[in-house]
Amino acid sequence: MTEAAEGRRAEIGVIGGSGFYSFLSDVTEVTVETPYGPPSDALFLGEVAGRQVAFLPRHGRGHHLPPHRINYRANLWALRSLGVRQVLGPCAVGGLRPEYGPGTLLVPDQLVDRTKGRPQSYYDGVRRPDGEQPNVVHVTFADPYCPAGRRAALSAAREHGWEAVDGGTMCVIEGPRFSTRAESRWHAAQGWAVVGMTGHPEAILARELELCYTTLSLVTDLDAGAEVGEGVSHIEVLEVFGQNIGRLREVLFDVVGRLPVDRDCLCASALAGQNPGIVLP
Ligand SMILES: [Zn+2]
Repeated sequence: MTEAAEGRRAEIGVIGGSGFYSFLSDVTEVTVETPYGPPSDALFLGEVAGRQVAFLPRHGRGHHLPPHRINYRANLWALRSLGVRQVLGPCAVGGLRPEYGPGTLLVPDQLVDRTKGRPQSYYDGVRRPDGEQPNVVHVTFADPYCPAGRRAALSAAREHGWEAVDGGTMCVIEGPRFSTRAESRWHAAQGWAVVGMTGHPEAILARELELCYTTLSLVTDLDAGAEVGEGVSHIEVLEVFGQNIGRLREVLFDVVGRLPVDRDCLCASALAGQNPGIVLP
């Protein structure tokens, strides 16, 4: 059933595939329009741990959107327009260190942006199709992830017997191809922990909308430079993700229950003292 977004609310958003919401008993599908075009798909609203959660399939149903064609601005805007203020963005990543093999769960505390050509800001001074004119705004991004969300993620994982790696740098590449061996060795030599394709600009766009953003990254493969075989294959990635999706869902739902009801983190006031020029939903 598809309903208009009118009157529908959620407080927490989860950007991830259908494996996270398909078994919830009572799910409402909601279509949301944004000034940035359509999000990846409809949003699916359900209750988890007593909290209202909006799920958004990042790649669309059927996984038809590659990482570089996802409308990240529309996705975050759509979540916020439903009332979401805290976002969890689970994702699949490659491990850049031999000790971060398939099945490792890592909660990054830093990211390095190696994407190209993806719209990264709502506040680019360019008039939107609806006539609204955003100002130019610069937000603090020294610590890209919500500290409260990270604490919740780490404690939930531990509770489920999955000792997550606390911190590390996620390198986000443009994709959709995987890294060359030379790129991968270079990423590893910088001390970065994992490499993915979707963690950015999701993180900065969330911050620009004063949303809390936390990512839980599941290692599905050792990246090209960290192993001696043929390199990463998509089939390998899907297999490992499939094997861990149930466990990751349980942890994720536990994280939802642990997120604070009232936020006292810096994410909530990222625009303080600045005038974005547009009204946030
Ligand atoms: Zn926060």
